[in-house]
Amino acid sequence: MNQSDLNFDFKHIWHPYSSMINPLPCYPIISAKGIHLKLNNGKKIIDGMSSWWSVIHGYNNARLNKSLKDQIKKMSHVMFGGITHPSAILLCRKLIEITPKKLECIFLCDSGSVAIEVAMKMSLQYWQALGEKRCTFLTIRNGYHGDTFFAMSVSDPANSIHSLYSTLLPTHLFANAPKCVFGETWNEKDIYSFDILIKENKSDIAAVIMEPIVQGVGGMKFYHPKYLEKVRYLCNHYKIPLIIDEIATGFGRTGKLFAYEYANIIPDILCIGKALTGGMMSLSATITTKNIAHTISNGKANCFMHGPTFMGNPLACAVATENISILQEKKWKKQIFNIESILKLKLLPLQQHPKVLNIRVLGAIGVVECLYKINIKRIQFFFIKHGVWIRPFNKLIYLIPPYIIDQYSLKKLADVISEALDNDNFFIY
Ligand SMILES: *Cc1c(COP(=O)(O)O)cnc(C)c1O
Repeated sequence: MNQSDLNFDFKHIWHPYSSMINPLPCYPIISAKGIHLKLNNGKKIIDGMSSWWSVIHGYNNARLNKSLKDQIKKMSHVMFGGITHPSAILLCRKLIEITPKKLECIFLCDSGSVAIEVAMKMSLQYWQALGEKRCTFLTIRNGYHGDTFFAMSVSDPANSIHSLYSTLLPTHLFANAPKCVFGETWNEKDIYSFDILIKENKSDIAAVIMEPIVQGVGGMKFYHPKYLEKVRYLCNHYKIPLIIDEIATGFGRTGKLFAYEYANIIPDILCIGKALTGGMMSLSATITTKNIAHTISNGKANCFMHGPTFMGNPLACAVATENISILQEKKWKKQIFNIESILKLKLLPLQQHPKVLNIRVLGAIGVVECLYKINIKRIQFFFIKHGVWIRPFNKLIYLIPPYIIDQYSLKKLADVISEALDNDNFFIY
């Protein structure tokens, strides 16, 4: 990549949540291996983001690479309508194996947002099939479920990403976000707002949808498992399906294979994505119970009305299967435990820092919530100069490193954050 390539990118290519006139700088990465990203100038930087929760086993992983190469020789793609193939079957067998028994019907999709759309459509069709008109979803504030329209409609309405479309979006019900924090004491009052909303709207609600334990884009907050336990109880009580969005948290990130395990609950519909393929391909899945799947199939439409072109893509399924095989060897538990210990050791003392509002660590997630908005452009330049890749947003600097990260590199990530906090130029007062 030369300067003219970068100028071309600047002029013609959109990046996530960016401006076409005055975008933040984009750093050219030409390759990646293990926990390192290699810049155009040959410099290697330590990855603190796992490419947004996805690259859990590191870049250029030999086993994941091999699974793709082996599959490419057999077949890269074939339509899923009227056709099936070993790659999808193997993956779905694995998914059934690692999720609760009750979840036995799998819909493969192409991205997280689509998995959410599918989960919401399933809920709507479920009630249609039962002869009830239910169009409202109940969720909690500070949530994030993706960027497509229906996913936006259940993401936090005050969040700047989605507020632009607020007049176009269907209106759903938002309970107060949980206040009780993971690891602290539970206060029964926390569930009141949710409790009232579900009771008052019980005949209109098609489903409840939430992120389990960790609210990601909505503020990197960790809430009390009791909240989720109560939600499950209330959903059971009013016979309303519960959709759990494990797209960010799934596959070990929080210290459990799935974050809902902290609350000992089982969802009626489970959405997974991001780390499903170890960050190798875009793939997601919506998994539900036989009851919901069969009710939908017995309905007026006789079928579930969704079917993406690249549904069940053999390459994506093959690499997801290998990714889960790696996880099933159970090294991840120790990896997450070690990451958690070091993040706690290195980040918790920053709680005393005058620019810090709160420090929190759960599994392989470390969050430094600052008192001030961060100047992303300046802080990122500093991070790169010091050999790390960390991408803050709003007032949050957070680490979600690949599970394979070594102690030394992880400490370095934390040290660079700690140093950045001392620089007044990186914050907007
Ligand atoms: C990223 C994310 C999504 C959307 O997934 P995409 O693959 O970006 O469409 C949905 N829910 C949660 C919790 C996420 O973190």
